[in-house]
Amino acid sequence: MPVERAFEAIDVLYRHGVRYLVLSGGEPLMHPELLPIIMRARSLDMNVMLVTNGGLLSEKRITDLAGVGLSGLVISIDAADATVHEDNRGLPGVCNKIKEANVVAASCGISATASVTMSRLVDYELLPDFLKSLGFKWVTFSYPCRQLGSSNLAQTDSELMNFSDDELVAEFDKIKKIKRRIRVLNPTRSLEEMQRFLRKEPQRYPCYGGFRYFYVDWNSDLWRCQYWHEPICKVAEFDVSKTVRDDCTICMIDCYRDSSLLHHVGVSLHDAWQEFKRGKPVAAVGKLATKATRDSLLSVLEDAAWIVKV
Ligand code: SF4
Repeated sequence: MPVERAFEAIDVLYRHGVRYLVLSGGEPLMHPELLPIIMRARSLDMNVMLVTNGGLLSEKRITDLAGVGLSGLVISIDAADATVHEDNRGLPGVCNKIKEANVVAASCGISATASVTMSRLVDYELLPDFLKSLGFKWVTFSYPCRQLGSSNLAQTDSELMNFSDDELVAEFDKIKKIKRRIRVLNPTRSLEEMQRFLRKEPQRYPCYGGFRYFYVDWNSDLWRCQYWHEPICKVAEFDVSKTVRDDCTICMIDCYRDSSLLHHVGVSLHDAWQEFKRGKPVAAVGKLATKATRDSLLSVLEDAAWIVKV
């Protein structure tokens, strides 16, 4: 996306209440105007994270990113073995770069989180020690995207992710199990929600894609999420009247489903306050006294250390 359009998107999103920005690609470190884009967001006090494969990370790049206020790096890891990961990425030597980058990032106050897509390459038994050997304290798992309607180019038909529903349910159990060995950011209740999704059981937590989370692509189209089949509008035309809140739960994209569970307690507080202002205290209490709100609060507590850091 050209830098002027990125500035426009940041300004519009900020005006309508967005305070967190995740830059992803492709490979955002290849964008020639990456630093000015981060600076623009930081000048508005937006919190910025960047998703990278780590291939272009160096001491200077990280120092520059820290200098413009980047708060977090999310580094893709595909396997629990350096050779398997590097072969899959086509990036020989990238694990050593990531290891060095984690040291520099920590010294600059940038949090670094491993992002692992659930695939047949992942050995969950070996993963915690491998991630720790690369210097990661935290890991987040991406759930396999089997279908995407938007312009997002994530792979949906790879044989590495062609799990049956039953196989995937078992893979989620493996993630829950390694929580004892490394900090997994996906809330346990969200992992269980995804297992209910795969078993076609009722969903408990509404997704806020299109209401609190959005996807903006390189054409300046603003979508409710990567799954959706059509954009909401051009980002320049966006305002709160175009947000969508319909308690959607039709897919399992972690970026939206996990975040929505964490956000649910905040949204419930807002809803309760609105009811209170309308003179409906009983309805206000009803907005808060739900199992979903309790689960959201517990999920926030589960991820509290990372949330505070980032
Ligand atoms: S559940 Fe999926 S399709 Fe629905 S809003 Fe969330 S991310 Fe989008």
